[in-house]
Amino acid sequence: MPVLLAQALSLTLPVLVVGHKNPDTDAIASALAMADLERQLGRAAQAIAQGPPNPETAYVLQRCNLQAPPVRTSLARHPVLLVDHSDAALAPDDLEPSQLVGIVDHHKLGGLQSDAPLRVRIEPVGSTATLVTELYQQAARPIPRPLACGLLAAVLSDTRSFQSPTTTAQDRRAAEVLAPLAGIPDPRAFGASMLQAYGRAMAGRSDLELINTDFKLFNMGAQRVGVSQIEAPSIAFVLERRQGLLAAMEAERQRLGLHSLLVMATDVPRLGTELFVVSKDPVTVERALRIHLRDGSAWVSGLISRKRQVVPPLQAALR
Ligand code: MG
Ligand code: MG
Ligand code: MG
Repeated sequence: MPVLLAQALSLTLPVLVVGHKNPDTDAIASALAMADLERQLGRAAQAIAQGPPNPETAYVLQRCNLQAPPVRTSLARHPVLLVDHSDAALAPDDLEPSQLVGIVDHHKLGGLQSDAPLRVRIEPVGSTATLVTELYQQAARPIPRPLACGLLAAVLSDTRSFQSPTTTAQDRRAAEVLAPLAGIPDPRAFGASMLQAYGRAMAGRSDLELINTDFKLFNMGAQRVGVSQIEAPSIAFVLERRQGLLAAMEAERQRLGLHSLLVMATDVPRLGTELFVVSKDPVTVERALRIHLRDGSAWVSGLISRKRQVVPPLQAALR
């Protein structure tokens, strides 16, 4: 098809608003809310997701009276607004530079390109939902109650009720705006119930499902690294299955051709992570993260954030 004709066609299609692969609560809630804000501003938009909601998000959708966005992995020629990621490895596989019209995110940039100027809001805050809340306020548009609930859940999930080192004053302000709109007087209790629901569901999952529920793939130099995170009120159920988990991790690492595969089992009340590592070069990983592995894992006090505390030092070591 001639390029101009293709562009003209794509202008008439609604913007698809999509979060990252293996979506979490922030990816889903921010997509639903950004699509709503776009529509309120007179632009045709539809939220989609690259996968089904995880157990925490399923709990949130039910509590907030929201529908999960349809799962769709092909973008056809639709214009695309990315939320909660700006990393090519986490975006839909068929995303072309001609389709990218906007990004709202709180992660590192990772290799995306666009053909035309685009709207971008990327800030180092605790959640994309924080930025979406600010965009509603700046546009002076109302946040519907179910979406306020979803956005509040996303702020609480990504910051683990403001305990993560990624938390900023903007996140606290966003939660103060959202809580009354959502009709949730005690956000911390809501955050705790989300974590309980997540932990309960994760405890019933297989080793492979534990790895894949919140799994992110990163290009680091010439290597690819996978980092997965399990967050729970107690990680005893993960520690109990150390050998099976490590075996499943090594099989996945080899199947995907990864340099390393890490699983962060984050004990939220203790504010630390049991970090499981399989790697073709574990010494480099140990040096980069300043850990000492014993039997395939290490307890790292204070480790909560994949994007802030794990990805940057690994990236620097593998560059
Ligand atoms: Mg996310
Ligand atoms: Mg997020
Ligand atoms: Mg997360």
